[in-house]
Amino acid sequence: MIAIDGVELGNDMRERLLLALLIALTIGSTPLPVRGQSAPGWLDPYREPAARLIGEATGDTFAWRRLAVLTDSIGNRLSGSPQLERAIEWAVTEMKRDGLENVHTEKVMVPHWVRGSESAEIVEPARHQMVMLGLGGSVGTRPEGVQAELLTVHSFNELEAAGQQVKGKIVFFNVPYTAYEETVTYRADDPSRAARLGAVASLVRSIGPPGLRTPHTGSLQYTPDAPQIPAAAIPTEDADRLQRIADRGTRIVVRLKMEAHVEPDAESANVVGELRGRDRPNEIVVVGGHLDSWDVGAGASDDGGGCVVTWEALRIMKKLNLRPRRTVRVVLWTNEENGTRGGLAYRDQHRTELANHVMMLESDNGVFRPLGFGFSGSEAVRQKLRAIGTLLRGIAADAIVPGGGGADINPSTREARIPALALAVDESKYFLIHHTPADTVDKIDPVEMAKSAAAVAVMSYVVADLPERLE
Ligand SMILES: [Zn+2]
Repeated sequence: MIAIDGVELGNDMRERLLLALLIALTIGSTPLPVRGQSAPGWLDPYREPAARLIGEATGDTFAWRRLAVLTDSIGNRLSGSPQLERAIEWAVTEMKRDGLENVHTEKVMVPHWVRGSESAEIVEPARHQMVMLGLGGSVGTRPEGVQAELLTVHSFNELEAAGQQVKGKIVFFNVPYTAYEETVTYRADDPSRAARLGAVASLVRSIGPPGLRTPHTGSLQYTPDAPQIPAAAIPTEDADRLQRIADRGTRIVVRLKMEAHVEPDAESANVVGELRGRDRPNEIVVVGGHLDSWDVGAGASDDGGGCVVTWEALRIMKKLNLRPRRTVRVVLWTNEENGTRGGLAYRDQHRTELANHVMMLESDNGVFRPLGFGFSGSEAVRQKLRAIGTLLRGIAADAIVPGGGGADINPSTREARIPALALAVDESKYFLIHHTPADTVDKIDPVEMAKSAAAVAVMSYVVADLPERLE
Protein backbone atom coordinates (compact mmCIF):
# COMPACT_ATOMS: atom_id res chain seq x y z
CA MET A 1 0.00 0.00 0.00
CA ILE A 2 1.27 3.47 -0.77
CA ALA A 3 0.05 6.75 0.62
CA ILE A 4 -0.72 9.06 -2.25
CA ASP A 5 -3.28 11.81 -2.09
CA GLY A 6 -6.46 10.81 -3.90
CA VAL A 7 -8.80 12.97 -5.93
CA GLU A 8 -11.93 14.41 -4.37
CA LEU A 9 -14.71 16.36 -5.97
CA GLY A 10 -14.83 20.05 -4.85
CA ASN A 11 -18.04 22.07 -4.34
CA ASP A 12 -17.45 24.35 -7.32
CA MET A 13 -16.92 21.20 -9.35
CA ARG A 14 -20.34 19.90 -8.32
CA GLU A 15 -21.98 23.04 -9.69
CA ARG A 16 -20.06 22.84 -12.96
CA LEU A 17 -20.95 19.18 -13.20
CA LEU A 18 -24.66 19.86 -12.79
CA LEU A 19 -24.54 22.58 -15.40
CA ALA A 20 -22.67 20.39 -17.86
CA LEU A 21 -25.09 17.56 -17.20
CA LEU A 22 -28.04 19.79 -18.03
CA ILE A 23 -26.37 20.94 -21.23
CA ALA A 24 -25.49 17.39 -22.19
CA LEU A 25 -29.02 16.17 -21.51
CA THR A 26 -30.42 18.94 -23.71
CA ILE A 27 -28.01 18.07 -26.53
CA GLY A 28 -28.59 14.37 -26.05
CA SER A 29 -32.38 14.58 -26.19
CA THR A 30 -32.32 16.28 -29.60
CA PRO A 31 -32.52 13.65 -32.35
CA LEU A 32 -29.30 13.90 -34.36
CA PRO A 33 -29.54 12.24 -37.77
CA VAL A 34 -26.54 10.34 -39.14
CA ARG A 35 -24.99 12.49 -41.87
CA GLY A 36 -26.81 11.82 -45.14
CA GLN A 37 -29.17 9.26 -43.63
CA SER A 38 -31.55 8.96 -40.72
CA ALA A 39 -30.24 7.56 -37.43
CA PRO A 40 -31.09 3.90 -36.88
CA GLY A 41 -33.81 3.23 -34.30
CA TRP A 42 -31.62 0.98 -32.15
CA LEU A 43 -29.57 4.02 -31.22
CA ASP A 44 -32.43 5.84 -29.48
CA PRO A 45 -32.23 4.05 -26.10
CA TYR A 46 -28.57 5.13 -25.89
CA ARG A 47 -29.08 8.88 -26.19
CA GLU A 48 -29.88 9.45 -22.55
CA PRO A 49 -27.12 7.28 -21.04
CA ALA A 50 -24.61 8.75 -23.53
CA ALA A 51 -25.59 12.26 -22.45
CA ARG A 52 -25.20 11.32 -18.79
CA LEU A 53 -21.75 9.77 -19.42
CA ILE A 54 -20.61 12.86 -21.31
CA GLY A 55 -22.01 15.15 -18.62
CA GLU A 56 -20.27 13.27 -15.83
CA ALA A 57 -16.91 13.14 -17.65
CA THR A 58 -16.86 16.73 -18.82
CA GLY A 59 -18.42 18.28 -15.71
CA ASP A 60 -15.28 17.68 -13.72
CA THR A 61 -11.50 17.57 -14.05
CA PHE A 62 -11.20 14.28 -12.16
CA ALA A 63 -9.28 12.53 -14.97
CA TRP A 64 -6.64 15.24 -15.21
CA ARG A 65 -6.21 15.41 -11.44
CA ARG A 66 -5.80 11.64 -11.25
CA LEU A 67 -3.14 11.81 -13.96
CA ALA A 68 -1.40 14.64 -12.08
CA VAL A 69 -1.29 12.48 -8.95
CA LEU A 70 0.21 9.56 -10.90
CA THR A 71 2.83 11.67 -12.67
CA ASP A 72 3.72 13.95 -9.73
CA SER A 73 3.69 11.43 -6.91
CA ILE A 74 5.20 8.49 -8.80
CA GLY A 75 6.77 9.97 -11.94
CA ASN A 76 8.04 8.11 -14.98
CA ARG A 77 7.72 4.34 -15.05
CA LEU A 78 10.25 2.38 -17.09
CA SER A 79 9.95 -1.41 -17.03
CA GLY A 80 11.89 -2.85 -14.12
CA SER A 81 11.88 0.42 -12.17
CA PRO A 82 10.49 0.73 -8.63
CA GLN A 83 8.23 3.56 -9.88
CA LEU A 84 6.41 1.21 -12.26
CA GLU A 85 5.80 -1.20 -9.41
CA ARG A 86 4.48 1.67 -7.26
CA ALA A 87 2.20 2.76 -10.10
CA ILE A 88 0.80 -0.76 -10.36
CA GLU A 89 0.06 -0.86 -6.61
CA TRP A 90 -1.46 2.61 -6.79
CA ALA A 91 -3.73 1.68 -9.70
CA VAL A 92 -5.00 -1.42 -7.87
CA THR A 93 -5.77 0.62 -4.75
CA GLU A 94 -7.50 3.37 -6.70
CA MET A 95 -9.54 0.96 -8.84
CA LYS A 96 -10.82 -0.69 -5.68
CA ARG A 97 -11.63 2.74 -4.28
CA ASP A 98 -13.66 3.45 -7.42
CA GLY A 99 -15.69 0.33 -6.72
CA LEU A 100 -14.47 -1.62 -9.76
CA GLU A 101 -14.89 -5.38 -9.61
CA ASN A 102 -12.41 -8.26 -9.95
CA VAL A 103 -9.48 -5.84 -9.53
CA HIS A 104 -6.23 -7.77 -9.74
CA THR A 105 -2.77 -7.93 -11.30
CA GLU A 106 -1.51 -10.49 -13.82
CA LYS A 107 2.20 -11.25 -13.58
CA VAL A 108 4.49 -10.43 -16.52
CA MET A 109 8.29 -10.70 -16.68
CA VAL A 110 9.73 -7.60 -18.37
CA PRO A 111 13.11 -6.47 -19.75
CA HIS A 112 15.09 -4.27 -17.39
CA TRP A 113 17.23 -1.72 -19.22
CA VAL A 114 19.02 0.90 -17.13
CA ARG A 115 20.20 4.19 -18.64
CA GLY A 116 22.80 5.26 -16.09
CA SER A 117 24.59 8.56 -16.59
CA GLU A 118 25.38 9.65 -20.12
CA SER A 119 26.80 12.55 -22.08
CA ALA A 120 27.86 13.59 -25.56
CA GLU A 121 30.14 16.41 -26.60
CA ILE A 122 31.68 17.84 -29.71
CA VAL A 123 35.45 17.79 -29.16
CA GLU A 124 36.58 19.25 -32.50
CA PRO A 125 36.50 21.81 -34.07
CA ALA A 126 35.35 23.41 -30.77
CA ARG A 127 34.03 22.00 -27.53
CA HIS A 128 30.23 21.90 -27.23
CA GLN A 129 28.25 19.87 -24.73
CA MET A 130 25.34 18.30 -26.59
CA VAL A 131 21.92 17.48 -25.21
CA MET A 132 21.33 13.77 -25.73
CA LEU A 133 19.36 10.70 -24.68
CA GLY A 134 20.64 7.18 -25.10
CA LEU A 135 18.26 4.96 -27.06
CA GLY A 136 16.37 2.35 -25.09
CA GLY A 137 18.13 -1.00 -25.18
CA SER A 138 21.47 0.54 -26.16
CA VAL A 139 24.69 -0.86 -24.79
CA GLY A 140 26.98 1.53 -22.94
CA THR A 141 30.47 2.74 -23.78
CA ARG A 142 33.74 2.04 -21.98
CA PRO A 143 33.94 4.19 -18.80
CA GLU A 144 36.17 6.74 -20.57
CA GLY A 145 33.70 6.90 -23.45
CA VAL A 146 34.12 6.44 -27.16
CA GLN A 147 35.75 9.27 -29.13
CA ALA A 148 35.87 9.26 -32.91
CA GLU A 149 35.45 11.25 -36.07
CA LEU A 150 31.84 11.87 -37.10
CA LEU A 151 30.38 10.78 -40.43
CA THR A 152 27.08 12.48 -41.33
CA VAL A 153 24.58 10.65 -43.56
CA HIS A 154 20.97 11.33 -44.56
CA SER A 155 19.73 7.93 -45.69
CA PHE A 156 20.56 4.25 -45.56
CA ASN A 157 21.66 4.47 -49.22
CA GLU A 158 24.14 7.19 -48.35
CA LEU A 159 25.43 5.03 -45.50
CA GLU A 160 25.94 2.03 -47.79
CA ALA A 161 27.62 4.24 -50.40
CA ALA A 162 30.09 5.47 -47.75
CA GLY A 163 31.35 1.86 -47.47
CA GLN A 164 34.94 1.76 -46.12
CA GLN A 165 34.70 5.32 -44.75
CA VAL A 166 32.29 4.15 -42.03
CA LYS A 167 34.89 2.03 -40.25
CA GLY A 168 35.95 3.48 -36.90
CA LYS A 169 33.56 6.43 -37.15
CA ILE A 170 30.60 7.62 -35.14
CA VAL A 171 27.80 7.69 -37.71
CA PHE A 172 25.29 10.54 -37.46
CA PHE A 173 21.91 9.98 -39.15
CA ASN A 174 20.54 13.45 -39.83
CA VAL A 175 17.13 12.84 -41.36
CA PRO A 176 14.55 15.59 -40.81
CA TYR A 177 11.34 14.44 -39.11
CA THR A 178 8.33 14.05 -41.39
CA ALA A 179 5.94 11.58 -39.79
CA TYR A 180 6.73 9.18 -36.97
CA GLU A 181 6.09 6.02 -39.02
CA GLU A 182 8.38 7.31 -41.77
CA THR A 183 11.38 8.37 -39.71
CA VAL A 184 11.33 5.97 -36.76
CA THR A 185 13.36 3.46 -38.78
CA TYR A 186 16.43 5.73 -38.42
CA ARG A 187 16.21 5.39 -34.65
CA ALA A 188 15.36 1.69 -34.56
CA ASP A 189 17.57 0.32 -37.33
CA ASP A 190 20.54 2.65 -37.80
CA PRO A 191 22.78 1.29 -35.02
CA SER A 192 23.02 -2.19 -36.53
CA ARG A 193 23.27 -0.90 -40.09
CA ALA A 194 26.15 1.37 -39.12
CA ALA A 195 27.81 -1.30 -36.98
CA ARG A 196 27.79 -3.76 -39.88
CA LEU A 197 30.06 -1.35 -41.76
CA GLY A 198 32.38 -0.90 -38.76
CA ALA A 199 30.95 2.18 -37.00
CA VAL A 200 31.86 2.47 -33.29
CA ALA A 201 28.71 4.37 -32.21
CA SER A 202 25.71 6.05 -33.72
CA LEU A 203 23.84 9.31 -33.23
CA VAL A 204 20.41 10.05 -34.64
CA ARG A 205 18.49 13.29 -35.10
CA SER A 206 15.54 12.98 -32.69
CA ILE A 207 12.38 11.44 -34.12
CA GLY A 208 10.08 14.41 -33.53
CA PRO A 209 9.40 17.91 -34.83
CA PRO A 210 11.73 20.74 -33.77
CA GLY A 211 11.18 21.51 -30.09
CA LEU A 212 13.20 23.60 -27.67
CA ARG A 213 16.34 21.48 -27.62
CA THR A 214 14.27 18.43 -26.74
CA PRO A 215 15.89 15.00 -27.24
CA HIS A 216 13.56 12.04 -27.92
CA THR A 217 14.48 8.58 -26.68
CA GLY A 218 12.86 5.32 -27.83
CA SER A 219 13.81 1.74 -28.62
CA LEU A 220 16.48 0.58 -30.99
CA GLN A 221 16.50 -2.85 -32.60
CA TYR A 222 19.86 -4.61 -32.73
CA THR A 223 20.09 -7.34 -35.37
CA PRO A 224 22.03 -10.54 -34.61
CA ASP A 225 24.44 -10.08 -37.55
CA ALA A 226 26.09 -6.87 -36.31
CA PRO A 227 28.12 -5.91 -33.23
CA GLN A 228 26.08 -3.94 -30.68
CA ILE A 229 27.26 -0.33 -30.61
CA PRO A 230 26.11 2.52 -28.32
CA ALA A 231 23.43 4.77 -29.82
CA ALA A 232 21.85 8.06 -28.77
CA ALA A 233 19.46 10.73 -30.02
CA ILE A 234 20.26 14.44 -30.14
CA PRO A 235 17.82 17.35 -30.54
CA THR A 236 17.27 19.37 -33.70
CA GLU A 237 19.53 22.22 -32.57
CA ASP A 238 22.54 19.96 -31.95
CA ALA A 239 21.84 18.09 -35.19
CA ASP A 240 21.74 21.35 -37.13
CA ARG A 241 25.02 22.51 -35.62
CA LEU A 242 26.75 19.29 -36.61
CA GLN A 243 25.32 19.64 -40.12
CA ARG A 244 26.53 23.24 -40.46
CA ILE A 245 30.04 22.28 -39.44
CA ALA A 246 30.01 19.27 -41.77
CA ASP A 247 28.79 21.46 -44.64
CA ARG A 248 31.87 23.63 -44.21
CA GLY A 249 33.98 20.53 -44.80
CA THR A 250 35.41 20.72 -41.28
CA ARG A 251 36.42 17.53 -39.49
CA ILE A 252 34.20 16.79 -36.45
CA VAL A 253 35.22 14.69 -33.46
CA VAL A 254 32.62 13.59 -30.95
CA ARG A 255 32.89 11.88 -27.59
CA LEU A 256 30.03 9.76 -26.28
CA LYS A 257 29.82 8.36 -22.74
CA MET A 258 27.02 6.01 -21.69
CA GLU A 259 26.58 3.68 -18.71
CA ALA A 260 23.53 1.98 -20.28
CA HIS A 261 23.16 -1.73 -19.61
CA VAL A 262 20.64 -4.54 -19.35
CA GLU A 263 19.86 -6.28 -16.05
CA PRO A 264 18.01 -9.59 -15.61
CA ASP A 265 14.27 -9.54 -16.44
CA ALA A 266 12.14 -8.07 -13.66
CA GLU A 267 8.71 -9.05 -12.37
CA SER A 268 5.93 -6.69 -13.37
CA ALA A 269 2.19 -6.97 -14.05
CA ASN A 270 -0.81 -5.90 -16.08
CA VAL A 271 -3.51 -4.28 -13.93
CA VAL A 272 -7.09 -5.40 -14.56
CA GLY A 273 -10.41 -4.05 -13.27
CA GLU A 274 -13.95 -4.76 -14.40
CA LEU A 275 -17.55 -3.74 -14.38
CA ARG A 276 -19.23 -7.13 -14.72
CA GLY A 277 -21.96 -7.37 -17.34
CA ARG A 278 -25.53 -7.55 -16.01
CA ASP A 279 -26.68 -10.04 -18.63
CA ARG A 280 -23.75 -11.56 -20.55
CA PRO A 281 -20.78 -11.20 -18.18
CA ASN A 282 -18.66 -13.65 -20.18
CA GLU A 283 -18.66 -11.37 -23.22
CA ILE A 284 -16.01 -8.70 -22.80
CA VAL A 285 -15.23 -5.22 -24.04
CA VAL A 286 -11.62 -4.28 -23.23
CA VAL A 287 -10.36 -0.70 -22.93
CA GLY A 288 -6.93 0.40 -21.75
CA GLY A 289 -3.52 2.00 -22.12
CA HIS A 290 0.01 1.17 -21.02
CA LEU A 291 1.15 2.08 -17.54
CA ASP A 292 4.88 1.89 -18.27
CA SER A 293 6.71 4.83 -19.86
CA TRP A 294 10.21 5.89 -20.81
CA ASP A 295 12.47 7.03 -17.99
CA VAL A 296 12.41 10.74 -18.86
CA GLY A 297 9.61 13.21 -18.32
CA ALA A 298 6.64 11.81 -16.45
CA GLY A 299 4.93 9.57 -19.01
CA ALA A 300 1.88 11.85 -18.88
CA SER A 301 0.77 11.77 -22.48
CA ASP A 302 2.56 8.45 -23.25
CA ASP A 303 0.66 6.84 -21.79
CA GLY A 304 -0.55 7.79 -18.32
CA GLY A 305 -3.35 9.79 -19.93
CA GLY A 306 -4.47 6.80 -22.01
CA CYS A 307 -4.61 4.67 -18.87
CA VAL A 308 -6.68 7.23 -16.98
CA VAL A 309 -9.23 8.06 -19.72
CA THR A 310 -10.01 4.40 -20.43
CA TRP A 311 -10.21 3.61 -16.71
CA GLU A 312 -12.55 6.63 -16.41
CA ALA A 313 -15.08 4.86 -18.63
CA LEU A 314 -15.61 2.22 -15.92
CA ARG A 315 -15.45 4.66 -13.01
CA ILE A 316 -18.11 6.87 -14.56
CA MET A 317 -20.41 3.98 -15.52
CA LYS A 318 -20.11 2.68 -11.96
CA LYS A 319 -20.79 6.11 -10.49
CA LEU A 320 -23.87 6.63 -12.68
CA ASN A 321 -25.04 3.09 -11.99
CA LEU A 322 -24.96 2.30 -15.71
CA ARG A 323 -24.15 -1.41 -15.95
CA PRO A 324 -24.11 -2.67 -19.54
CA ARG A 325 -25.16 -6.16 -20.65
CA ARG A 326 -21.56 -7.27 -21.17
CA THR A 327 -18.47 -6.90 -19.01
CA VAL A 328 -16.31 -3.84 -19.55
CA ARG A 329 -12.70 -4.53 -18.55
CA VAL A 330 -9.93 -1.98 -18.19
CA VAL A 331 -6.38 -3.27 -18.66
CA LEU A 332 -3.32 -1.17 -17.87
CA TRP A 333 -0.60 -3.01 -19.75
CA THR A 334 3.02 -3.14 -18.68
CA ASN A 335 6.16 -2.84 -20.84
CA GLU A 336 4.71 -1.39 -24.06
CA GLU A 337 7.74 0.81 -24.63
CA ASN A 338 10.57 -1.67 -24.65
CA GLY A 339 9.18 -5.13 -25.18
CA THR A 340 5.35 -5.18 -25.40
CA ARG A 341 5.50 -8.14 -23.02
CA GLY A 342 2.30 -6.93 -21.32
CA GLY A 343 0.24 -7.11 -24.51
CA LEU A 344 1.72 -10.49 -25.41
CA ALA A 345 1.07 -11.85 -21.92
CA TYR A 346 -2.54 -10.66 -22.03
CA ARG A 347 -3.07 -12.60 -25.26
CA ASP A 348 -1.45 -15.73 -23.81
CA GLN A 349 -3.13 -15.57 -20.39
CA HIS A 350 -6.59 -14.91 -21.89
CA ARG A 351 -6.32 -17.17 -24.93
CA THR A 352 -9.30 -19.31 -23.93
CA GLU A 353 -11.61 -16.29 -23.68
CA LEU A 354 -10.33 -14.22 -26.63
CA ALA A 355 -13.24 -15.49 -28.72
CA ASN A 356 -15.54 -13.79 -26.19
CA HIS A 357 -13.84 -10.42 -26.67
CA VAL A 358 -16.39 -8.27 -28.46
CA MET A 359 -14.12 -5.27 -28.95
CA MET A 360 -10.75 -3.95 -27.75
CA LEU A 361 -9.90 -0.26 -27.54
CA GLU A 362 -6.51 1.26 -26.79
CA SER A 363 -5.70 4.89 -26.07
CA ASP A 364 -2.01 5.51 -26.82
CA ASN A 365 -1.91 8.64 -28.99
CA GLY A 366 -2.26 11.14 -26.18
CA VAL A 367 -5.40 12.56 -24.62
CA PHE A 368 -5.59 15.80 -26.55
CA ARG A 369 -8.75 17.08 -28.32
CA PRO A 370 -10.58 13.87 -29.24
CA LEU A 371 -11.70 13.42 -32.85
CA GLY A 372 -13.29 9.97 -32.56
CA PHE A 373 -11.85 6.53 -33.14
CA GLY A 374 -9.54 4.71 -35.47
CA PHE A 375 -11.06 1.38 -36.42
CA SER A 376 -9.77 -1.78 -38.06
CA GLY A 377 -12.32 -4.47 -38.89
CA SER A 378 -15.31 -5.28 -41.05
CA GLU A 379 -17.50 -2.83 -42.95
CA ALA A 380 -20.60 -3.93 -41.03
CA VAL A 381 -18.95 -3.09 -37.71
CA ARG A 382 -17.69 0.20 -39.10
CA GLN A 383 -21.25 1.23 -39.99
CA LYS A 384 -22.41 0.39 -36.48
CA LEU A 385 -19.56 2.36 -34.93
CA ARG A 386 -20.35 5.34 -37.17
CA ALA A 387 -23.88 5.37 -35.78
CA ILE A 388 -22.61 5.14 -32.19
CA GLY A 389 -20.15 7.90 -33.03
CA THR A 390 -23.04 10.30 -33.69
CA LEU A 391 -23.73 10.23 -29.95
CA LEU A 392 -20.39 12.05 -29.59
CA ARG A 393 -21.18 14.81 -32.05
CA GLY A 394 -21.87 17.23 -29.19
CA ILE A 395 -18.18 17.03 -28.21
CA ALA A 396 -17.02 16.78 -31.86
CA ALA A 397 -15.60 13.29 -31.32
CA ASP A 398 -17.77 11.46 -33.84
CA ALA A 399 -15.22 10.53 -36.53
CA ILE A 400 -14.59 6.86 -37.34
CA VAL A 401 -11.35 6.77 -39.32
CA PRO A 402 -8.99 3.99 -40.51
CA GLY A 403 -6.26 2.84 -38.14
CA GLY A 404 -7.64 0.97 -35.16
CA GLY A 405 -5.55 -1.03 -32.72
CA GLY A 406 -2.51 -0.38 -30.57
CA ALA A 407 0.73 -2.10 -29.61
CA ASP A 408 -0.84 -3.72 -26.54
CA ILE A 409 -4.10 -4.96 -28.07
CA ASN A 410 -2.74 -6.00 -31.49
CA PRO A 411 -1.45 -9.42 -30.37
CA SER A 412 -4.96 -10.32 -29.14
CA THR A 413 -7.05 -8.63 -31.84
CA ARG A 414 -4.95 -10.13 -34.64
CA GLU A 415 -5.03 -13.63 -33.23
CA ALA A 416 -8.79 -13.70 -32.57
CA ARG A 417 -9.92 -11.17 -35.22
CA ILE A 418 -11.42 -8.87 -32.59
CA PRO A 419 -12.69 -5.44 -33.72
CA ALA A 420 -9.88 -3.04 -32.73
CA LEU A 421 -10.32 0.64 -31.87
CA ALA A 422 -7.88 3.43 -31.04
CA LEU A 423 -8.89 6.72 -29.48
CA ALA A 424 -8.11 9.28 -32.20
CA VAL A 425 -7.04 12.72 -31.01
CA ASP A 426 -5.47 15.87 -32.41
CA GLU A 427 -1.85 14.66 -32.46
CA SER A 428 -0.19 17.98 -33.24
CA LYS A 429 1.32 18.23 -29.75
CA TYR A 430 1.85 14.51 -29.18
CA PHE A 431 5.04 13.94 -31.18
CA LEU A 432 6.52 17.20 -29.95
CA ILE A 433 6.80 15.76 -26.43
CA HIS A 434 6.80 12.02 -27.25
CA HIS A 435 9.55 10.15 -25.32
CA THR A 436 11.04 13.44 -24.04
CA PRO A 437 11.66 15.13 -20.70
CA ALA A 438 8.76 17.44 -21.71
CA ASP A 439 6.10 14.72 -21.45
CA THR A 440 4.53 16.18 -18.31
CA VAL A 441 0.92 16.74 -17.26
CA ASP A 442 1.00 20.52 -17.87
CA LYS A 443 0.92 19.82 -21.63
CA ILE A 444 -2.49 18.23 -21.26
CA ASP A 445 -5.66 20.30 -21.17
CA PRO A 446 -8.13 19.09 -18.50
CA VAL A 447 -11.14 19.84 -20.70
CA GLU A 448 -9.74 17.99 -23.71
CA MET A 449 -8.80 15.08 -21.48
CA ALA A 450 -12.31 14.97 -19.99
CA LYS A 451 -13.75 14.84 -23.50
CA SER A 452 -11.40 11.96 -24.36
CA ALA A 453 -12.73 10.09 -21.32
CA ALA A 454 -16.31 10.87 -22.40
CA ALA A 455 -15.68 9.48 -25.88
CA VAL A 456 -14.24 6.21 -24.53
CA ALA A 457 -17.06 5.91 -21.99
CA VAL A 458 -19.85 6.30 -24.56
CA MET A 459 -18.26 4.02 -27.14
CA SER A 460 -17.45 1.24 -24.68
CA TYR A 461 -20.79 1.49 -22.89
CA VAL A 462 -22.89 1.23 -26.04
CA VAL A 463 -20.82 -1.58 -27.60
CA ALA A 464 -21.01 -3.49 -24.30
CA ASP A 465 -24.76 -3.01 -24.09
CA LEU A 466 -25.94 -3.62 -27.68
CA PRO A 467 -28.66 -6.29 -27.85
CA GLU A 468 -26.71 -8.02 -30.65
CA ARG A 469 -23.00 -8.64 -30.33
CA LEU A 470 -20.89 -6.29 -32.46
CA GLU A 471 -19.95 -8.21 -35.64
ZN1 LIG B 1 2.74 4.74 -25.75
